[in-house]
Formats: sequence, C-alpha cells, structure tokens
Amino acid sequence: MDTLLKTHNKLEFLHPLHGFSEKVSNLNSSKLQNQELRCGLRKSHMKLSRTALIKASSSALLELVPETKKESLDFELPMYDPSKGLVVDLAVVGGGPAGLAVAQQVSAAGLSVCSIDPSPKLIWPNNYGVWVDEFEAMDLLDCLDTTWSGAVVFIDEQTKKDLDRPYGRVNRKQLKSKMLQKCISNGVKFHQAKVNKVIHEEDKSLLICNDGVTIQAAVVLDATGFSRCLVQYDKPYNPGYQVAYGILAEVEEHPFDVDKMVFMDWRDSHLNNNIELKERNARIPTFLYAMPFSSNRIFLEETSLVARPGVPMKDIQDRMVARLRHLGIKIKSIEEDEHCVIPMGGPLPVLPQRVVGIGGTAGMVHPSTGYMVARTLAAAPIVANAIVQYLGSDRILSGNELSAEVWKDLWPIERRRQREFFCFGMAILLKLDLKSTRRFFNAFFDLEPRYWHGFLSSRLFLPDLVFFGLSLFSHASNASRIEIMAKGTLPLVKMINNLIQDRD
Ligand SMILES: Cc1cc2nc3c(=O)[nH]c(=O)nc-3n(C[C@H](O)[C@H](O)[C@H](O)COP(=O)(O)OP(=O)(O)OC[C@H]3O[C@@H](n4cnc5c(N)ncnc54)[C@H](O)[C@@H]3O)c2cc1C
Repeated sequence: MDTLLKTHNKLEFLHPLHGFSEKVSNLNSSKLQNQELRCGLRKSHMKLSRTALIKASSSALLELVPETKKESLDFELPMYDPSKGLVVDLAVVGGGPAGLAVAQQVSAAGLSVCSIDPSPKLIWPNNYGVWVDEFEAMDLLDCLDTTWSGAVVFIDEQTKKDLDRPYGRVNRKQLKSKMLQKCISNGVKFHQAKVNKVIHEEDKSLLICNDGVTIQAAVVLDATGFSRCLVQYDKPYNPGYQVAYGILAEVEEHPFDVDKMVFMDWRDSHLNNNIELKERNARIPTFLYAMPFSSNRIFLEETSLVARPGVPMKDIQDRMVARLRHLGIKIKSIEEDEHCVIPMGGPLPVLPQRVVGIGGTAGMVHPSTGYMVARTLAAAPIVANAIVQYLGSDRILSGNELSAEVWKDLWPIERRRQREFFCFGMAILLKLDLKSTRRFFNAFFDLEPRYWHGFLSSRLFLPDLVFFGLSLFSHASNASRIEIMAKGTLPLVKMINNLIQDRD
C-alpha cells in the first residue's frame, strides 16, 4: 500500500483538469492570465489525488510495485547563465522527445538554444513502442532495445491475426542520451526549472521561471506535452482519453510467443467469473498490449483504447489482475509500472499564435490510436527548418509573423484534414462496445497493409483516406457495416462540415 502511494495515478487529474480546461478556454481574460492559471492549477490537484489514491489501492498486484526509481543520465550539462542577459534565438520549454529533437536540430544550424525542463537529466518515464519501419526511416534503429518480427491481435477466443510488421521498444535511455549529446556538442544551454508564464514583446519573449530567472528568446517553443503550459486553445477542450496500466515484470511463465509482440488481445473469457466486470468490459472494452522480452520477462499493459470520460484506473487494474490470473501469469516481481493517460483528439491549438508548439501540446497525438512519438520525431525537422529558415542569418521574420510560418509548416492543410479524419475515427471508436470493436478490428487488420500501416503511422492523406474508409467498409461484415452507418453518420457529417470550413 505504501509503495503504491509513491506512484502517480494520473487518472484522478482527468475530470477536474478537463472541466478546468474548458472553463479556461471559455474565459475572455488575457492570454497571460490563462497561462498562469493553467500551469498553477495542476499542483492543487496533485494534492487532492494523493488522498484519492489511498482509497483506490486494493490489489495484491500493486503491492509488488517498487518505489518509483527516478534514474538520471550521467551528463554534465552546460547551464544557461542568466546574469549575461542574452536573448537566445530559441527557448524550448520541455525536454521530452519533442522538445529535445527540435533543440538538437535548431542548434545544429548554429542558432543559440536554451532548453528548459525541471528535470533535464531524468530518463523519460514512458515505455514507448513504435513500428520498426517508422524508426528505420529516421535512422534511429540504434534507439530500439528490442524488436519483434511481427505482432499478433487476438480478436476473440477463436480469431487471431498475425501482423507481418516488425515492432520495437524504444530504448529511451539511448534516445535521450543521443539527443542530449548532440545538443551539448551543438552548444545548447540548459536551465533546470519550470516555466510559469511568458510575456511577449514585439521581437522577443520573456519566459518567467519558477526559480525567479527570466529567459529572453526570439522564439518560444512549447514542448510541455499534455500539460499544454503555454500554447493557447480557444475551443472547449473535449478529448477522449486512452487510459492504461502497465507493468514490466518478472514472471514464472507466460503463454506468448517471444518473437511476436501482442498488439491487442480483446479476449474476455478471463471475466467469466465476474459478471459485473464482464458487463463493464462489454460496454467499454479494454485489451492487453504485451511485449514479451523473454520467457519470464514481459511488459503487460491493460489498455482502454479511447473513452470519454476515461475508464477509471482502478477498473483497468482489476481487469488486468483477472486477465493475468486467467492466463496463468504469476508475477514474481515488478521492475516498474506505468499509469498512462493520453488525451486524444479534441481541438487543435489556436493557429497561428505567438508561442509555437510541438508534440502533445500541439495536438499531435494520433486521435484514433494515442501514438505520437514517431510522428513527433518526424515532424521535428519541419519545425526546426522553419525556425532556422526565418530566424537564420538574414532574420527575415520575427515575432508573430515568424511563428505563423512555423505553425503553417507544422499544420498544413493536408495534415489538418488528415487529423480531422482521425478524429472521425475516434468518434466511431468511442461508440463501439466490445462486440463492435472486435468486428471493427477484424476488418481493419484484413485491409491491404499499405492502408492499415498508413493509417496507424499517419502516412495516409485525403483522398487515400477516403479509399481506406471505403476499403474498410467493403471488408466489414454486414453487421459491422450497419453499425458503421448507424454510429458513423453523425461524425461523418461533422467531419465533412469541418473539412469544408477549414481553408488556408
Ligand atoms: C505512459 C505513456 C505511454 C506512452 N506510450 C507511447 C508509445 O508507446 N508510443 C507512442 O508513440 N506514444 C506513446 N505515448 C504518447 C506520447 O508519445 C508521449 O506522451 C510523449 O512522451 C510525448 O512527448 P512530448 O515531448 O510531447 O511530451 P513529454 O514527453 O510529456 O515531455 C514534456 C516535458 O515537458 C516538461 N514540462 C512540463 N511542464 C513544464 C513547464 N511548465 N516548464 C518546463 N518544462 C515543463 C516535463 O517535465 C517533460 O519533461 C505515451 C504516453 C504516455 C503518457
């Protein structure tokens, strides 16, 4: 019980945060006020959530969770010197994959960059999975620590799909080390703090940090992930939530093939003895995502693909315990656990705006899948090139004009249309119960690989997405077609309406 209290259960943040964000975005107060409010509130909810956690802990599984180990990288970081009062070309707020990727690439072009994060040396906590071809295309294969030759999807007790597409686990220590190393050799300076607010002047911005330091920058990049600290939204924030609970465990044995990762296991026979859980799962299903590293070491994650509101973490954990027991998986020890809450879909930030963004803060998570890391790393050069091009030696643009160009390159009309389609996908997924979800994925993974690969990796654009939709419809069973028509018509109309309204 003690141990659980030291882990973060982020789900308690969901509803208050959600409600608050809506209120904030409806306020007519100044942008500055919004930023201070948004970044400040999180702390008070953290206090609340601890109390809630005490009540939530019940399972024996959680007793095995170790105290959170925060492992840091052994790097000597060159620190930003505030006494010099320099105006840096780019201040990157947030040192996750998105922020570091841009810092690295802008500094490589000779521009001065300051990276600001409260824990710049900490190894990123999330267990990232990607399709191997996505990392291969970026020459990042050395940053995968395990690869599987393919993946499997269990649709139900009888139906299993073999996916002939290699999958990999990101070696987050290696990826972050590689990026930090490049940043250091390119001259990036680091500042260990949180940014509380930003004040804009005509050709520079002032970042006020929680340690009292002010950093001046020609361009500010918000890469604060889902905390969306500086980027502004002007529409109610109404995402769906992917919620998952994962453990990296040593087990006595497990039933999975170590050459294949388990992309989705929708079987539900583990709930046969628990009518209440079975009914809840039949309405809003969860699946198992598993990375078998060996016959006795495995990452297991019970996942709600998307729901609004998000499925409570406790519910997910209960379903996981029942599943593991049914599969005969006996946990000997847990190396680490992961509470995953990913906001999906919802509106894009105000386009354009003075602060530029990338990653979670800039609406880049795939609205139908929750994946983002490969897409963000692939988008980093686009953002970096735009900044370098307009801020480079000729200083062609500054202030709002420069930011507008960067946003245009990050979210061109083709990408906005693609996202609209993915949000349409999410709107359908939100309405599917277990039976319909199974029918949906049965048809989805029967599609030609270029369609399902392209959909999952954000490589399909309109009009290919329309052919993807038609192909999915033609592969679907009759029952599934009726369902898609019944549940998809309204979202389809909404999507078409949004597509018509969104022009360059
Ligand atoms: C548990 C989990 C598992 C995931 N797994 C996958 C996966 O397998 N595959 C995939 O593609 N995607 C995955 N995602 C989705 C997404 O890829 C990750 O959330 C990714 O980390 C987002 O990258 P980011 O750089 O935008 O933000 P983050 O990684 O969240 O980094 C944001 C950084 O900003 C810092 N920060 C926040 N506020 C401030 C502030 N005010 N001032 C300064 N710094 C600040 C934070 O400390 C943090 O270091 C996962 C998400 C979660 C939560």
